[in-house]
Order: sequence, then structure tokens, then C-alpha cells
Amino acid sequence: MNATASHNAAPPPAGPTYWLEQALAAESPGGCPPVTGTVRADVCIVGGGYTGLWTALELKRASPDLEIVVTEAQSCGLGASGRNGGWMTSWYDELDRLVERFGLEQGLWLADESSAAIDRIETFVGEHEIDCQLRRRGSLWISTTPGQDEVIEGPLNACRELDRGAFVERLGSSEVERRTGSRISRGGVLIRDSAAVQPALLARGLRRVALRQGIRIFEGSPMLQLVRSAPAAVLTPAGRIEADQVVLATNAWAARIRELRNAIFVVGTQIVLTEPIPERLAHLDWREGLLLGDARLFVHYAQVTPDGRIAFGRGGGAIGPFGRVVPKHFIDPRTAATVAADFREWFPELRDVRLTHAWGGPVDRAPGHLPFVGSLGEHGNVHYGIGYSGNGVGPSALVGRILASRTLGLDDAYGRCALVSGPPGHLPPEPLCSAGAAIVRSVVQRTEEREQHGIAPGPVGRLSKRLVGFSIPPLRRRRLP
Ligand SMILES: Cc1cc2nc3c(=O)[nH]c(=O)nc-3n(C[C@H](O)[C@H](O)[C@H](O)COP(=O)(O)OP(=O)(O)OC[C@H]3O[C@@H](n4cnc5c(N)ncnc54)[C@H](O)[C@@H]3O)c2cc1C
Repeated sequence: MNATASHNAAPPPAGPTYWLEQALAAESPGGCPPVTGTVRADVCIVGGGYTGLWTALELKRASPDLEIVVTEAQSCGLGASGRNGGWMTSWYDELDRLVERFGLEQGLWLADESSAAIDRIETFVGEHEIDCQLRRRGSLWISTTPGQDEVIEGPLNACRELDRGAFVERLGSSEVERRTGSRISRGGVLIRDSAAVQPALLARGLRRVALRQGIRIFEGSPMLQLVRSAPAAVLTPAGRIEADQVVLATNAWAARIRELRNAIFVVGTQIVLTEPIPERLAHLDWREGLLLGDARLFVHYAQVTPDGRIAFGRGGGAIGPFGRVVPKHFIDPRTAATVAADFREWFPELRDVRLTHAWGGPVDRAPGHLPFVGSLGEHGNVHYGIGYSGNGVGPSALVGRILASRTLGLDDAYGRCALVSGPPGHLPPEPLCSAGAAIVRSVVQRTEEREQHGIAPGPVGRLSKRLVGFSIPPLRRRRLP
């Protein structure tokens, strides 16, 4: 066996997250202290990822005198925000479904606002000198099977019909190959407003700006208990935060909150990273920050880093039973090995390239695959924004704005938008949910692999794919007179 072949056989080393290693190495050491004693604030935000930090920054912008604290279990950005694939995308790739679900006006508003959120992030990181390697070259959303052709066709047509055609461009398979070097596609759509980003540098940059603006951040301070009183109280191991309003921005971890237990499903996603190969990618557009992904249910997503590494991920990883985030969400060598195999299939000519990192994280999958915002507690002073379903890098800036409007009680387009009605559906109770999901996941995985090799899905495969989005509609609220 030659050296090249042994690289192939070796599974990627599971463990450290490249993005976080890079971001933390660029900082001077020292975290924010934990909460001790009793802390008083106007607003307490639980969770220091993008959602929590954008909400804090939006609140500060709207109301500079507010006393805002963020309490984070570990350190800001160590959750999904510092580990993701760095795909910053809008919802133009969902436009048909948005219009179907929310009507023309709201559907278009949400899609346009998700795109405007990327504009805002780009401006914000420029103004605040957050060097997060943001490159706005668009995303290439490709089809690799006949079934995926239909998936990309709907939003493409909706964009054209609804005067959003400037955001999308159809590309043939040879054009995709010219830009990315991959021969796997049947063609695809270039979505122009997307940006690639180094996610952990963005999260840590937001933390830095928040601190500079006087937002108090406590780290190593998990919320152990939420007292749903007015004011509300957040209890941590060594202290207590009392606040008029609380915002829960805990992503997949929110599945452990009593009222949100059946609102989201926790599932892992894994990424593998190559060694730097800039010279082998030099002739491809992809090298400049174009994103690449497919239209599978268990989606593949990839980007090239500025130093010429390929980060290649896939959804549909380990299930979090009973709404738990488990160690396997972060380190899952078995799933990572299958993601590595997919990478070799997409780029056979890079089979000699070494994989240096593999990591993952938890995703808060929601019925309808869009985030939702709501309030809980009899005083309505505890708000939450969750359910990104693996697409939160750009949308979290929009959700942060919605949460800020809601927290401030503003009657504006954000506070009134279609995402503020809480969970759009509920999952079946446990243990049915986890057991059913495990079966559905393995059938869908097999079905999508077979489709990749030209085998059309049978009835069980087709049914399982539909079941991925299964939820129980919320009970109709009694109409108030
Ligand atoms: C591997 C991976 C790849 C992804 N790829 C993409 C992508 O390419 N594009 C995209 O758009 N989206 C992607 N996503 C999804 C995206 O990362 C998330 O939607 C987004 O980061 C959500 O931000 P957040 O702040 O809500 O969550 P998080 O960043 O997870 O923040 C939640 C925070 O809450 C903290 N917390 C939890 N419990 C408590 C508690 N009790 N008390 C205090 N703090 C608590 C956690 O420590 C964490 O820091 C990916 C996700 C993963 C895991």
C-alpha cells in the first residue's frame, strides 16, 4: 500500500474544531467571569451564540441605556455558531415554500429580510473590523439526482416569477464542474446573495463588539433553572440573574425546556476538513469563496477556506434522544468516516488529499425547517428564538432583530412577522419520536445513497423522506372575542 492509499484509508481525526482553534488562537487569553451572587438587568439573554449575541447587539442599538447581560454555559461561540459550515445564505432557496406557507406578502418579506440580514452582517463586520473571512461570492446549489432537480426547480421558478430573478442563475453541469472541479452534479443554481464565512471568527467578533458596547457577558454560567416570574430569574451554579425580560437563545439545548420539548428535534451534522491544497484549487472559482452544496434532505455543504482547505459537511447525523445534546454530536468518528467517503466521491481526483480535522455539532431541526420565535411563562416575559434546522448563520441576524423587537414590545414589521407564533408544529412524544426518527434516518440515508447511484427510491424510501418533515399541527388557539 502506498502512502497515498493509506491516507485514503485513514479516517479523519475526530476532535478539535478547526474554526475554533483558529479563532481562539488569534485572541489574547482570558474569558468572561461566571455569574456570582445576584445580578440585576433589564434583559438577560441565555446562550452566547449568534442568536444571543445578535439579540444583545440589536437591543443595544435600539435602546442604548438598557442593562443587558448574556449568560453562556461554556464560552461564546463554542456551540453551533463556532462549528458550522460557514454557509451564510438567505431563504431565496425556499421562496416557493415560504409563499405557500405564509402567503405572498409575508413569504417575500421573509426572503428579502433574510437576504438583507446578510447585507447587514457584511456591513457590521466591516464597520467593527471583524475579520471573519467573509467572502460574498454566492452559493452553488446543485442537484446530483433526478429527485433533487425538482427540489431546486421550485425556488428557481418562484424567484423568476416573483421578480427575484436577479438573485438566481441556472448553471449546467459543465459550468458547475468548471467552477468547482466536481463532476457529480446534473447542474444547479447559483444563488448570488450568499457569503462564505469563518464562523468562529464571526461569533468571537460579535462577542468582542458586545463587550465593547457595555453588554455584560458571563461565561461558564449555565442556566440551571428558569423562574418564570416577573421579573424572571435565571439561576446558575454560583449566582442568580434577575431580569424584566429573558431571551432563551440556546439552540438545540432548548429542547430541554419544558414548553419547547416537542418543538424541535436534536440531530447532529459532521464536517471533515482537508489539508491546505491551494495550488490544486487555484484554477477554480470555488477557491474565491463560492459555496457548494446539494439539494439532498441530508444535505452536503462545502466551502474552501482562504488558505485552500476544503470544509465538507453533511447533515443527518446522530439523533439526540429525548431532546438531549450528546457527545456524539460533537465527535462522531463513524459518521465522519462516511462524510469523508462522500467527499472522495464528489472529488475523486483529490483522493490523495489528507483530511486533518473532523468535528460536528447539534442542529435544532424544526417542523417547517424555519426558525420560530415565541414567548412563554404566564407573564409573557421569556422569549425564545430557535429551530434554524441547520440554516442559522445568516438568519440568526434576522431572528436577533425579531427577538429584540419582541423584547422591547415594538409593534413593527419584525415583532409582527410570521415567525413569531411559536412552534409551527409538534413532534410525536418520546420515546416514539427518537425511535421513529432513527428508523426514518437510516432508510432516508440508504435511499439517498442509492439515488446517488441511479437507483430510484421505492415506496418505503419515498414515505420515509416525507416523514422527515412529519409533525403534529399545533392545536388551534381559541379565538378571543
Ligand atoms: C456542524 C454544523 C454545521 C452547520 N452549518 C451551517 C451552515 O453552513 N450554514 C448555516 O446557516 N447554518 C449552519 N449550521 C447551523 C448554525 O450553526 C446554527 O443555526 C446557528 O449557529 C445557531 O446559532 P445559535 O446562537 O442559536 O446557537 P448556538 O451557537 O448553538 O448557541 C447556543 C448557545 O447556548 C449555550 N447554552 C446551551 N444551554 C445553555 C444553558 N443552559 N445556559 C447558558 N447557555 C447555554 C451553548 O453553550 C451555546 O453557546 C450548522 C450547525 C452545525 C452544528
